[in-house]
Amino acid sequence: MFEIFNTKVENVSETFDLNTPAGRHEYFHQKAAKEIEELKEYLEHNSFVSFWLAKKGAGKGTYSKMFSEIIGEERLAHISVGDVVRHVHASVEDEQAKKALYTYLDENYRGTLSLDEAFDALINRETKTLLPTEFILTLVKREIEQLDGQGIMMDGFPRGMDQISYSLYFREIMNLRHDPDFFVLIDVPDSVLDARVKARVVCPKCQLSRSIKFLLTKDIIYDPETDTYHLICDNPACEGCGEERLVAKEGDDLGIEGIRDRLEADDELIKYALRLRGIPKLTLRNTVPVDQAQSYVDEYEITPEFVFDHNANNEVEISTKPWVVKDSDGSDAYSLMAAPVVLSFIKQMHAQLIGDDTMGV
Ligand SMILES: [Zn+2]
Repeated sequence: MFEIFNTKVENVSETFDLNTPAGRHEYFHQKAAKEIEELKEYLEHNSFVSFWLAKKGAGKGTYSKMFSEIIGEERLAHISVGDVVRHVHASVEDEQAKKALYTYLDENYRGTLSLDEAFDALINRETKTLLPTEFILTLVKREIEQLDGQGIMMDGFPRGMDQISYSLYFREIMNLRHDPDFFVLIDVPDSVLDARVKARVVCPKCQLSRSIKFLLTKDIIYDPETDTYHLICDNPACEGCGEERLVAKEGDDLGIEGIRDRLEADDELIKYALRLRGIPKLTLRNTVPVDQAQSYVDEYEITPEFVFDHNANNEVEISTKPWVVKDSDGSDAYSLMAAPVVLSFIKQMHAQLIGDDTMGV
């Protein structure tokens, strides 16, 4: 498990609302103004390559998006291999785009498949068959060539153990060898992923997605017959707005059982990456042990969980308490909000790219 990151900052004792963009803005400004400014300045003239590894559902997208909001989207390029493949998949429909892609692949792709075979593999893509790595690298290379020197956040590469070596020499392959590169490894215990899936509810009419524990709608009702609480859809565009109960999606009651193989493969990849030498690793940890929380984090940085009660008229009363989970080692831990995890990323990235001894340069 990764080291616990201390997100407390001397002389910053205010409480920030980490659920709103304005609250987060103030939070980052108070806790990491210097690092953010220096990173922005650094990225005016430099870039980097980062490989993000996390278990499915661990919040890779949330973290990287929040980071982009702080640093400035124009300085960063988020390359999701899944999206790249989907775009290519879509562009095959368009004759001109298809032709441009064919020309590019013809000049750049190296591998055993013919272009037609590679396209077949792409078009008949099942989620379980992976495209040949050489083909993916060529598609990613094309994506990178269209960039204008932004810092690169790779999502979905390396996907498996066989792609790790490519990531180690990715800079050379992509002609980016002057850019610093590093891994970003995210650790979220299975108990957190499991609870998030189990708490998920959607509106059957409009598919509005919320969480009975972490993200509510405006109205919550108590059903005395079943002694259960229900979120009511509050999407104004929904015909069931104000009436329809949000329900669990089929299979969600099983939590992460259905994706256990995938989680284990992801975990194996992260553990392997942790052992790699010669390439820096930034480690993001979602939890803090309950008995150490006070020395490492501020109270509002801990994820709250909603709890419900009802009065004699069956009116719902909502309160919150810190969400306690089982850490990977089985001990009690708090799950952190996204913002403090991103804060730890900013500080580690700053130390990595700029260091502490260049102050005032
Ligand atoms: Zn709805």
